[in-house]
Amino acid sequence: MDSIAYVNGDFVLLSEAKVSVLDRGFLFADGIYEVSAVLGGKLIDNDSHLARLERSVGEIKLPLPETVARIKEIQHELISRNQLKDGLVYIQVTRGADVGRDFAFPKGVKPTLMMFTSVKDIVNAASAKTGIGVITVPDIRWTRRDIKSVALLAQVLAKQAAAEAGAGEAWMIEDGGKVTEGGSSSAFILTKDDVLVTRENSSAILPGCTRKAVVKLAEERQLRVEERAFTIEEALRAKEAFITSASSFVQPVVKIDGELVADGKPGPVALRLREIYIEFARATGT
Ligand code: PLP
Repeated sequence: MDSIAYVNGDFVLLSEAKVSVLDRGFLFADGIYEVSAVLGGKLIDNDSHLARLERSVGEIKLPLPETVARIKEIQHELISRNQLKDGLVYIQVTRGADVGRDFAFPKGVKPTLMMFTSVKDIVNAASAKTGIGVITVPDIRWTRRDIKSVALLAQVLAKQAAAEAGAGEAWMIEDGGKVTEGGSSSAFILTKDDVLVTRENSSAILPGCTRKAVVKLAEERQLRVEERAFTIEEALRAKEAFITSASSFVQPVVKIDGELVADGKPGPVALRLREIYIEFARATGT
């Protein structure tokens, strides 16, 4: 069934939604995006996602064409028009369409704002029960990964390689086997000493909103968390591994490059953190 999208002030059928071929998002990947989950018709951790949107556009000097309050209204209007219960709301802002293809910022061009929804039953995903395998690939991205840029070619290639290998995610590695993050998720392990480890925020990774919430929820429950890089060798010696993202919440990782993590079954801490995150989501959705 076709759904309703928002493009530059208009609500239109997603299949008919259009922007110019001169849009700088299309020509230069000169844009930023955000994805918020929807559970029971409510947006999950949305203020955190919109704060990251504001930060990302600020980092590339791209003015938002609407206020954050208006963007929130549009998110809710799309959820309501599409009668969305469980899924995702996607937001993309680009530097708009100029009359040609000059690299420098155009003057007097209004940024493009486009939003749409998709249906996804994140809570009941089968892969949350079985766990997923990940493959490792070199992290070939630029050095400002803290900006949620639409330039996602490295992640497209990484996740395609994962799909071809029958894996659910690609973990990107650099500096002698250190994991930066997943193609579209943050990476965690639980060490033999029961310490949760996830890489510290820096320009080397995207500051995951789900990562932030899970770290807080874990610490509130007296779990020890260390924010530092870990290697694939350490992950293979760990008790558990998992990923977090708005589109998967918490997902156990049971295999890395074909090798089992512990006994190859989803770990109890990952499964418990998933439940805790879902409780948090249901309690705080807006
Ligand atoms: N890291 C990368 C590279 C991502 O693309 C994403 C989500 O798209 C994440 C981490 C997870 O971020 P969040 O939890 O905010 O969805």
